[in-house]
Amino acid sequence: MAMPFDKCYARHLGSCDGKSREHFISKAILETLAPFGVQGFPWLKPGKAGTASPSSLASAILCKHHNNFLSDFDAEAAKLFEHLRLIDSKQTPKELSSLPSITIDGVLFEKWLLKVLCGAMASGNFQVDGKFFGKLAPSEYMVDMLFRNNSWPKGAGLFIDFEQRQRMDAFRGLGYDPVFVKTTATNAMICGIDIRLWGFPFRGLFVTYEDGAIRPGYRPPKLEVVNGSIRKEIHFEWPHGTPQDTWSILTRDGTIPDSS
Ligand SMILES: [Zn+2]
Repeated sequence: MAMPFDKCYARHLGSCDGKSREHFISKAILETLAPFGVQGFPWLKPGKAGTASPSSLASAILCKHHNNFLSDFDAEAAKLFEHLRLIDSKQTPKELSSLPSITIDGVLFEKWLLKVLCGAMASGNFQVDGKFFGKLAPSEYMVDMLFRNNSWPKGAGLFIDFEQRQRMDAFRGLGYDPVFVKTTATNAMICGIDIRLWGFPFRGLFVTYEDGAIRPGYRPPKLEVVNGSIRKEIHFEWPHGTPQDTWSILTRDGTIPDSS
């Protein structure tokens, strides 16, 4: 019989076991980052960049059982992350041409975005308008999306946020901000997360619009990195039936300029 564990944010799913002190952004990813920057982390002022400090991101927000359940999502994000970092290290077209193309499982990557959001909420590690909100339990709706194998409603999932592209292009490393909608003058509902990985703006939205519309930028089939005559593609695989008509290809030219 599993022991109840009252600090696990997935406890309504049952089967909680012993305590886990985990990183909501996995240690493997944070270690990949060094010596590059992070933004949106709790020890940083809004809009400022700093360095990753893995131990300060560990908090007891899941039990071991539920934490282990999420490791595939971390692995897929780490794969993309490492590849973007590798691309960034190739200064010339010739160097870039030596890299293989990769394919990312889009659903695993979307679940990683949701995992980071749930972890940031449960551990109180996010800011809205420059203020920390304290610890918030992710909704059962979001936790179900993260842990259950049901396919998500169309319109929920990964977006590329073109509007923020320019701001993000200069940033090497990893940054995140919650996406929220104001419900009243004093209340806001958190509905997603913006994550910047190596200059690419990824947005996870975990709610759908009432009109059922799918906004532009949903579930990209690929990203492209261009340097001179060389183009390198990062493909995303999506479940059958994913709409493909809202997308134009996101391209990044050359390596990212140093922001310092
Ligand atoms: Zn649990």
